[in-house]
Amino acid sequence: MILFYLASGLILIGLLVYLYLHISLSMRCPKCRKINNERIPRSSIARLFSRFLPLKAYRCRTCWNQYVVISD
Ligand SMILES: [Zn+2]
Repeated sequence: MILFYLASGLILIGLLVYLYLHISLSMRCPKCRKINNERIPRSSIARLFSRFLPLKAYRCRTCWNQYVVISD
């Protein structure tokens, strides 16, 4: 049973780290904090969420991290 909690905790932390690195509230890259990006087509998941949230997908030219920006 301990293993179950451990595994679900790890998955939760991994998910939070993933969201932290791939969702930004400004144009700044969430990974390297630089503003050096280009618009890319949204993934299917981002398209789904963009019905409820104003999402734009970007790719950082410095560290090649892909992330979505929540802004209107
Ligand atoms: Zn970056």
